[in-house]
Amino acid sequence: MKRLVLVGAGHAHALALRAWAQAPLPDTELLLVSPEPLAPYSGMVPGWLAGHYRFAQIAIDFEPLARAAGARWWPGELQALDPAQRQLRLADGTLLAYDLLSLNIGSTLRPPPARHAALLPLRPLGLLRQRYEALLARWCQGAAGDRAFVVHAVGGGAAGVESLLAVLHRLRQLRPDRALRSALLTRSPVLLPGLAPAAQRAAQRALARAGVTLQTGSGWSEALDDHSDLLLWATGAEAHDWPRDPGRRGALAVDAAGFVCIDAQLRSLSHPQVFAVGDCASWPGQALPKAGVHAVRMGPVLAHNLRMALAGRSDALRTHRPQQQSLALLATGDGRAIAARGPLGAAGAWAWHWKDHIDRGFIARFQGDTP
Ligand SMILES: Cc1cc2nc3c(=O)[nH]c(=O)nc-3n(C[C@H](O)[C@H](O)[C@H](O)COP(=O)(O)OP(=O)(O)OC[C@H]3O[C@@H](n4cnc5c(N)ncnc54)[C@H](O)[C@@H]3O)c2cc1C
Repeated sequence: MKRLVLVGAGHAHALALRAWAQAPLPDTELLLVSPEPLAPYSGMVPGWLAGHYRFAQIAIDFEPLARAAGARWWPGELQALDPAQRQLRLADGTLLAYDLLSLNIGSTLRPPPARHAALLPLRPLGLLRQRYEALLARWCQGAAGDRAFVVHAVGGGAAGVESLLAVLHRLRQLRPDRALRSALLTRSPVLLPGLAPAAQRAAQRALARAGVTLQTGSGWSEALDDHSDLLLWATGAEAHDWPRDPGRRGALAVDAAGFVCIDAQLRSLSHPQVFAVGDCASWPGQALPKAGVHAVRMGPVLAHNLRMALAGRSDALRTHRPQQQSLALLATGDGRAIAARGPLGAAGAWAWHWKDHIDRGFIARFQGDTP
């Protein structure tokens, strides 16, 4: 019997487990390692921040999902990998050997220490719930006559825009009597670089409606810390600590940023017994955006390729073909959304209903009795 260890309750692993629940892997001991059984679905995170969904509605529970696939959910966090010995070390010191390993551990952020402002980094998603709930509790306790509460967001990509608009909506909904001021800072000269100009303009209008001052071409500085009550950190995705540290990743091939280098079959370039998908992987050639949609699309290919690799059929591995243009739907917190694809962009309540329908459809696949 071979042992396949999945590390990370990411989007691709959710889809792979669901596939194996329907068609079990023969002669395989299957383990899923993640710190928490509940993992939020990224597409619905802004809607949860805005108060449109409860956390339970946007989370996948990996414990029953793993059980249905014949796997064991193992609470733990990968700290170091020895790919030569095919062994990993968890934070509690446990050593786990594997025949095949699959990494779907997402990405993180490294915000600067804030002296005054409460800091809310948007990644890793797993830590967001606790931090956000604590923030909302403090906000609700403040007095109505207090000076205006100042919210700064850093990062002009989709996550920065969506999360700022969502958080402002929630704060105002909970305490309409408290005053708020807000600014979004981005080093880039434009908001939402890479999206259609029409979508960029729609985002600017949404920020203006929410009373947000947009400061393009400017980053966070310590001076701003003195005037800020809440700092939302949503800059570009970064690799976790262990793959950035040669002492903790062994000879595993990673790119300059610490993302695991893979081939088009989703295998490590240095160790074919290791697969990596989603944010933590470095796609060959042109870098893929760190977006949940890519992790989702890698899921079925990963499920097939791990099955074939377990059977010793490396000749039957499938090649992943990432979408060149994907549909982006950005919630603006107010019951509207911005839709963008290639050169096209538009906004309205219809786009929010569309997004809500797609996201509820995705998560429903993991929330029924039978995956
Ligand atoms: C506010 C916000 C909104 C977003 N909205 C969208 C959107 O609408 N559409 C979109 O496509 N993308 C969106 N993204 C991007 C998206 O969140 C990520 O690209 C996506 O979650 C990556 O998926 P993943 O499967 O690679 O990893 P994740 O979903 O991040 O899952 C990683 C898992 O690995 C676990 N893990 C991490 N480290 C370890 C370890 N050492 N050991 C064990 N387990 C570990 C984590 O706990 C987690 O369960 C958004 C991001 C943010 C911040």
